[in-house]
Amino acid sequence: MRQSLLFTKTRKEIPKDEDSINAQLLIRAGFVDKVMAGVYTFLPLGLRVFKKIENIIREEMVAIGGQEILMPSLQPKENWEKTGRWEGLDNLFRFTSHYSKIDYALGATHEEIIVPLTKKFIFSYKDLPAYIFQIQNKFRDEKRVKSGLLRGREFFMKDFYSFHKDEKDLDLFYFKKGKKAYENVFKRAGIGSSTYFTFASGGTFSKYSHEFQTISSAGEDTIFLCEKCKIAVNKEIISEQNSCPDCGNKNLKEEKAVEVGNIFQLKTKYSIPFDLKYRDQDGAEKDVIMGCYGIGLNRLIGAIVEIFHDKNGIIWPEAVAPFKVHLLNLSKDKKNRDFAEKIYKDLQISEVEVLFDDRVDATPGEKFAEADLIGITYRLVVSDKTGSKVEIKRRNSKTSSLVSKKDLITKLSK
Ligand code: ATP
Ligand code: MG
Repeated sequence: MRQSLLFTKTRKEIPKDEDSINAQLLIRAGFVDKVMAGVYTFLPLGLRVFKKIENIIREEMVAIGGQEILMPSLQPKENWEKTGRWEGLDNLFRFTSHYSKIDYALGATHEEIIVPLTKKFIFSYKDLPAYIFQIQNKFRDEKRVKSGLLRGREFFMKDFYSFHKDEKDLDLFYFKKGKKAYENVFKRAGIGSSTYFTFASGGTFSKYSHEFQTISSAGEDTIFLCEKCKIAVNKEIISEQNSCPDCGNKNLKEEKAVEVGNIFQLKTKYSIPFDLKYRDQDGAEKDVIMGCYGIGLNRLIGAIVEIFHDKNGIIWPEAVAPFKVHLLNLSKDKKNRDFAEKIYKDLQISEVEVLFDDRVDATPGEKFAEADLIGITYRLVVSDKTGSKVEIKRRNSKTSSLVSKKDLITKLSK
């Protein structure tokens, strides 16, 4: 993509109404635009990052058997009354139609839709297990939105639901497949080494639920790490038991963290209100046992930026960067400009994603500053000094090197 054609621009000044690093950088670099508190538009660069994250998540969910669907945001009041959450869920957006005076909810989560849905298809043990997910926008009337993309009023979530014939099957899937798929997602998104499987309170249905907490000073949660087991417990659990649930270690390290995902053994919490049952092999009617698994996409993007940035801008992990390469032409000379054009074309032919700063009205200093702010993994420079070669530098490295066009294409098309 040519930067001269990109309708968005970067901004030098820090937005006054954002105090989090992630929102400041994402707005300044032109990834998102703030519509109002807790609501953002994804701009072309931001949408590219979003789609990369979405694809990583989708691939990992499909790999554990997930079938993708898309449920609506507009939801009937009756379903929410059945689970007691019309009144019970503080952050549910509720409103009334002007015409019919019918009440609706805006989807804050989708158990109220997916359970009645599966009731139309799940009858027998032969229909189980079933794994269903979606990647969709959620609405929550959060009391306070803060920390930019980390807590919004409208945000995207991947929500995955599993349906089982008994708790043993749920347990197996939850720990062997669900947990593993989450670890894969966070590893591929670049935050694997700072994300911890964290024991959280399970409410009345199971002893624990589990959060995936990413260490960051921007986080609103506090976790307690067992460095031996590489797991953590959250605040509720530390106050109950004061030790690592795996090894009993009491010497836990306190850290600030962001909850990027969580998984929950719902068991019969939603199958009972909707009477979701199946007939077992022995003919007996039994409750379907459920699990649910969420990842916040906006929050994950925000957490990545909180971890990977420096004073000049974002440093995207390669797998989620909007482009692999940011090609800068700094020369006004026709020959050099043509050379940069040729590199741009050759990279495209080799299917290397490239943002080409072909602007004639920006100074070299501006181009360098914007490249650092946007944070694409490889920066290539063609200038009056690079001759028949191209300068290549990684965003997170201080040193650059000169390479020939041929070597460049070979190196980058890998
Ligand atoms: P939190 O504890 O942060 O309020 P939650 O436990 O209510 O979140 P879930 O309902 O389980 O979260 O949602 C699954 C995931 O969705 C969370 O792990 C988080 O990544 C994301 N998420 C939840 N609320 C928000 C929000 N307001 N803005 C952005 N992402 C969110
Ligand atoms: Mg939570």
